[in-house]
Amino acid sequence: MRKQEDFSEWYNEIVELANLTDKRYPIKGMNVWTPYGWKIMRFIDTYIREECDATGHDEVCFPLLIPETEFKKEKDHIKGFDAEVYWVTHAGLNELDVRLLLRPTSETAMYPIFALWVRSHTDLPLKTYQLVNTFRYETKQTRAFIRVREIHFFESHTCHVDEEDAQRQVEEDFVILENIMKHLCLPYFLLRRTEWDKFPGAYYTVGVDTLLPDGRSLQLGSIHHYRENFSRPFNITYEDEKGEHKFAHQTTFGMSERLVGAVVAVHGDDKGLVLPPDISPFQVVIIPILAKGNVEKVAEECQKLRQELTAAGLRVKLDDSDERPGSKFHNWEIRGVPLRLEMGMRDIEGGKVAYARRDTGAKGSLDRSNIVPQVREKLDQISADMRAKALAASNDAIQDLDSLDKVPEKVVRFGWCGEEECGRKFEERTGLKMLGSPYNKEEYHGRCIVCGKPVEKPTYAARSM
Ligand code: ZN
Repeated sequence: MRKQEDFSEWYNEIVELANLTDKRYPIKGMNVWTPYGWKIMRFIDTYIREECDATGHDEVCFPLLIPETEFKKEKDHIKGFDAEVYWVTHAGLNELDVRLLLRPTSETAMYPIFALWVRSHTDLPLKTYQLVNTFRYETKQTRAFIRVREIHFFESHTCHVDEEDAQRQVEEDFVILENIMKHLCLPYFLLRRTEWDKFPGAYYTVGVDTLLPDGRSLQLGSIHHYRENFSRPFNITYEDEKGEHKFAHQTTFGMSERLVGAVVAVHGDDKGLVLPPDISPFQVVIIPILAKGNVEKVAEECQKLRQELTAAGLRVKLDDSDERPGSKFHNWEIRGVPLRLEMGMRDIEGGKVAYARRDTGAKGSLDRSNIVPQVREKLDQISADMRAKALAASNDAIQDLDSLDKVPEKVVRFGWCGEEECGRKFEERTGLKMLGSPYNKEEYHGRCIVCGKPVEKPTYAARSM
């Protein structure tokens, strides 16, 4: 299990060993969420719900099936998804007059209904979100959480009176994203996608990318401003204060179970998962160190410790199975539990609890009295250190590029004039995918790597996952 040597192989093995998913379901790319993996996903969903609810979004749940007639209404949209959708052609023994598709995303499911919900400017902004499964027929090799055909998905959909208000929503989405990523300890980039790579039907798309240890980029989500591109075909109009009818401006924000994949990929090491405390099913594992003559006393003290920590709201596992401590250490390291506590007779007599951090391997001891704040402090420190370490690795993974002749196996930063011709040429020559330019201003003075024109903002490109 060498992460540095063969990242791809390492990833598959870790996912398997930590039992995050079961890939034996008889449809390729449709995996079973195991209890451990699903708990992690649920914590992430909980943060998503918290953030959306706090910003005035309402959770909804739309049907999975979309009639072909609705799906076809926005032309770019259908072109973008045509090759990826699953079709339902029969109901019972009858062939359907209008085929139905499994949502690849929910614009065309929601917007006919939004057209009924939105009547007046007083109905706006309409801010909704849902957490559902979506379906995309991936033809590339599938990979747990990263490229699957049934996808656990978050999508927010909003309607606004005008372009500016929709723009404010985009900015709010960035704040929501930042708050969620803090829990996951993941660094990311906000890159405005090229015209030929934006979401089908969008006015513009901002991709949320994180960098993987092998120099590739992984798109974790995206935020789109639609202007009136969907409200026109779906007739989402409202009456303004003067009684005039206007089209709504819309936005969406989507993320998926790739967040779990990114947590595995970015934080994991040769021993297994390393989970951020905020999303770890267990934040603390207690291992009793038993010896002849003290079994009962140690077991009892470990129970007390568990109760005290649990009562304080911490998620704690007491591993009182019959295995040897060494193999318990190993098992919980694979599963990424952030903090291990050990207690034997000597610790009990000395009023101490031994600890080991999963992220750094650092060991030491805590005072048994007043244990709760000390454990909390350790967990906070682990979160902060994981964030800092991942950010440093992400910054290290980027290399400035000034010639097409020496392209490194990394994420590259370079000058691009913005012309599609130069962009396409760059992608052809390097085999890299253009990710776009930073949404937020980044100091840069350079020249287009293809035509030499001076440019004032950088562009990023990478091999994509
Ligand atoms: Zn150029």
